[in-house]
Amino acid sequence: MKQQKNQSNRRRYDPFKGAQSFNLCGRCLDDYRSTGSYLIRRNYEVEYTDTCLFCNVRRGFEYFVVSRNAKPKQGDSNE
Ligand SMILES: [Zn+2]
Repeated sequence: MKQQKNQSNRRRYDPFKGAQSFNLCGRCLDDYRSTGSYLIRRNYEVEYTDTCLFCNVRRGFEYFVVSRNAKPKQGDSNE
């Protein structure tokens, strides 16, 4: 049986590709989540906690944060 490599031809769009991760405490993470405008993914490569980049008070983990509106809109929604 020949093995086909169809899977390698398929590229799934990864919104987190090339995204930078930064430190977010639980509170600031919630703020981001509550807006609904961002995709958030924990960066599991960083296992230690550090001071939150935004409030500089609490400690948290590393997260990738990507704006959902990063891609340009196609056409207006008026029509
Ligand atoms: Zn914070």
